[in-house]
Amino acid sequence: MSKIRTAIFGGSFDPIHNGHIALARAVRDRGLADEVWFLITPLNPHKQGKQLTDENLRLQMAQLALAGEEALTASDFEFSLPRPSYTINTLDALEKAYPGREFLLLMGADNWYKIDKWYKSEEILARFGIIVYPRDGEEVPPLPPQARWLDSPLYDISSTEIRNAARTGADMSQWLHPDVQALINQENLYK
Ligand code: ATP
Repeated sequence: MSKIRTAIFGGSFDPIHNGHIALARAVRDRGLADEVWFLITPLNPHKQGKQLTDENLRLQMAQLALAGEEALTASDFEFSLPRPSYTINTLDALEKAYPGREFLLLMGADNWYKIDKWYKSEEILARFGIIVYPRDGEEVPPLPPQARWLDSPLYDISSTEIRNAARTGADMSQWLHPDVQALINQENLYK
């Protein structure tokens, strides 16, 4: 029996926004993977020192945003791993925990260009499929055979912009699932 192909979309998701969701839908709808797991990063090795919202709240926001989305799931898998968990360690642990699945790594073209700086990047490339998506309108980078290009829509939004806007009281609800916006209001986040 062939394995379920699960794309891993790691990020802070502080908060999850419509750009993230559109990207994951594109992975699913274009058949690059059977499902997408949003792995909420408790502490990102590349963003050390950055103040993050409590991980359980970030998880809750992702769960709310993805509740009606087929094959898109919020995951707390990294919460129980030693921190910070480098990508190869997370993929290793996922493989052990879910033998019925084949994991693919979803990453932006900006990160793809820096992959040689990642911890054990050669091993990642040797063992896992990669799906690369455009960031900032970059051209398709040269890709090895195990990497696929996702020609996905670009949404000009980031979580940083949403947090900054929330601080000034600006309305960012067009970028957020209504239940996520409601939780942000209720918990008084990003003030
Ligand atoms: P921050 O502004 O806090 O760095 P972010 O939204 O850029 O947040 P993460 O929350 O870490 O990033 O999201 C995970 C990944 O989602 C990022 O590595 C980034 O490549 C991708 N991403 C972020 N914004 C968009 C967008 N508008 N469209 C497509 N992908 C995005």
